Amino acid sequence: MKEKRSRRITQWIMAPLVPLVIVGGYFWPYLGYVALAMMLLMFILTLFRGRFYCGWICAMGAFHERVLALVSRKRNMLPVFKAKWFRWLLFILMMGILAMRLISAEGDPAKIGAAFVMMWTLSTGLAIFIGFFWQPRSWCAICPMATFQGVIAPCNYLLQVAPSCKGCGICRKSCPIETNPGSFKAQGFVTSGDCMRCGNCVVNCPVKALEFQTSGQAKGCSVLGSLGLK
Ligand code: SF4
Ligand code: SF4
Repeated sequence: MKEKRSRRITQWIMAPLVPLVIVGGYFWPYLGYVALAMMLLMFILTLFRGRFYCGWICAMGAFHERVLALVSRKRNMLPVFKAKWFRWLLFILMMGILAMRLISAEGDPAKIGAAFVMMWTLSTGLAIFIGFFWQPRSWCAICPMATFQGVIAPCNYLLQVAPSCKGCGICRKSCPIETNPGSFKAQGFVTSGDCMRCGNCVVNCPVKALEFQTSGQAKGCSVLGSLGLK
């Protein structure tokens, strides 16, 4: 499958941040602020480009897609990874753990950094476990940051599906998070909160039926929908 060279290079640059923050942060907890800085960058980018951050810049996503993929069994994701209730359960659990660690840090900068190192360690451990058996980026379907992005701006920079789509399914095979753009042909836009705007499907579509949003408004896309309330 084809992919954008610039994305591959960006991911290989970002991926080493994961072992650096986790291992280095054990000895020097201030490295945890790298994780905090990346969360802020994610927040800003999401306002303009939806989940573009996940597809291109996220260090953990890059680590899973480039490094974990080398050993992953790559089975299809379990349906529970796509279940809203499971995503929100994980979101509440992980944000609860982070909040408790931050409160107990009592403003100590080193302890605050250590809290973010702990979050990356926990997330990466879970991600490696599920990414080994299932798709390497399975974690990205349930990552609390992805769930959060769905609330901030679920309808930004969506993928458009042109009527010329012939339903061949190649886009699904090229998608690292098992989204199927062709199945959104009737809607005209891929409104799935899973889409990370990576562009793999765009470069692989044989009839050039896919492009990122240039105009129009997607019907059926809303914050309520991303919350699973509609
Ligand atoms: S690869 Fe293109 S033509 Fe094939 S299903 Fe996807 S969008 Fe449609
Ligand atoms: S639907 Fe396309 S752009 Fe979105 S994550 Fe899948 S391959 Fe990437």
